[in-house]
Amino acid sequence: MQSSTIKKNLYNVGAILKGLSITFGYMFRKRPTIQYPSVKKQHAPRFHGLHELRRYGDGQERCIGCELCSSACPANAITVIGAENAPGDRVSPGERHAARYEIDELRCIFCGMCEEACPTDAIVLTPRFEMADYRRGSFIYDKDRLLVPIDAGVGAAPDERPGGIPGDLGRVADIKSTTDVAEGYSATWRGEILKTQRRGLASQ
Ligand code: SF4
Ligand code: SF4
Repeated sequence: MQSSTIKKNLYNVGAILKGLSITFGYMFRKRPTIQYPSVKKQHAPRFHGLHELRRYGDGQERCIGCELCSSACPANAITVIGAENAPGDRVSPGERHAARYEIDELRCIFCGMCEEACPTDAIVLTPRFEMADYRRGSFIYDKDRLLVPIDAGVGAAPDERPGGIPGDLGRVADIKSTTDVAEGYSATWRGEILKTQRRGLASQ
């Protein structure tokens, strides 16, 4: 065999060994991938996700329909229509409450200006990021979908709840780790609403 051929073969074997050394090197490193959705990645402490409207500890809504969040929003994503509180049927402690409250999450840039502007800490951005859906209309979150249910962490900011998770996830934290898509999807009240909507889509 000619010396040039031997050199070429040695070079090729060296290249293969060099390539394999990278493969074997990675075999013993800690894997950066996680088994999502059964394992969730820890958010950065100031992560901005889906909004929620909070209540006071007595169940009254914090929102007083002042529209400051709507004025502060640079993406024009928030619609608030306020109404007077009726005596004997008070929705919020103020004179007014939000009769209608909507956020277009497709317009939202998750800047947190609404949270900053709110005088009553009513609107907050939670760590929740799982918002994918099939229809644009599903990204219009109205008050029914934004308001924390009365039995789910009222009066407590998301970062004060167990594990720092949103109120709607708090009561189902134990089954959040499921890999069963149907069960996991039903695991939140917002998820249940979306699921119902999808059922409607399926029957169309
Ligand atoms: S996070 Fe920013 S863009 Fe989104 S609704 Fe609030 S103010 Fe508007
Ligand atoms: S969420 Fe806050 S800023 Fe927006 S209308 Fe309600 S009270 Fe006003």
